[in-house]
Amino acid sequence: MQSDKCLSFYLSNGSVKGHFCRLGDSITNSLQLHEYPEKVNTLLAEMAAISQCFSMDVKSNSHTTMQLTGTAPVKLALVNSTDCQFFRCCATMSKESPANLNDLSIPQLFGQNGKLVFTIDFENQYYQTIVELSASTLQECFQHYFIQSMQIPTIVILCSSVIDNKIESAALLLQKMPSPSSAESAEADDSDIWHEASCFAATIKSHELLGSGMPMERLIELVFGELNPVVSRETILSFKCNCSHEKILNIIKNLDSTNEDDPSNLPLEVVCEYCNKKYAIDKSEIDS
Ligand SMILES: [Zn+2]
Repeated sequence: MQSDKCLSFYLSNGSVKGHFCRLGDSITNSLQLHEYPEKVNTLLAEMAAISQCFSMDVKSNSHTTMQLTGTAPVKLALVNSTDCQFFRCCATMSKESPANLNDLSIPQLFGQNGKLVFTIDFENQYYQTIVELSASTLQECFQHYFIQSMQIPTIVILCSSVIDNKIESAALLLQKMPSPSSAESAEADDSDIWHEASCFAATIKSHELLGSGMPMERLIELVFGELNPVVSRETILSFKCNCSHEKILNIIKNLDSTNEDDPSNLPLEVVCEYCNKKYAIDKSEIDS
């Protein structure tokens, strides 16, 4: 059974749209390359899951980047998705991080002025949305993001687990779609359906959303069965870093801050932040 995927579905003939993403091997493969604290691993795992739900609504050849930025102890948590099916992630921590990381809320993790930034790169045109990281949990931050940026009723449920170095995460996103008819009766019907969908979603337990639960299609059917769920799309997801010698060299050239005073002729060793792959860049390549 393929556990790393995102299902897009509709309820009640399209009155409600949903995405359900479950990650297991892909997120474990990505995070085991790093030695982040468990709190950061679960944060990135949940971000990767909701990021895939976001990506289902953009054009399939877009690249998306979801970033949480702050000061300390976490400076950056980032998930990068390509073609809506491959993702990679990384985080940057301040030098000294507190021992009680697991107990910290989102504002405590990212410090003052934390931001959630979502960028869509579609054929080199960039669309960016930024909201403050003011809510205490990641789930509330994303809920706030949707309500603020799209102004449509949205429910976000996020969960994750780490057992014996195996990381799992899941995200469920439900959105009320605009009524096709402006008649008051149609809008009232849609509100009733949205209310029902919200109540059903509230009954789902974290362990059911995660990989150890039942198959995803069955869970959607079980929870939302009365609202005639129809799965419209299945996307298989995997971890992939598309770094290369050429890309790394370009980044260094653009930085334009290479140490020209460095008398050694040793090649520069550059490590990809996403996959930890090491690249040796010769100084002659930078000048060329
Ligand atoms: Zn890489």
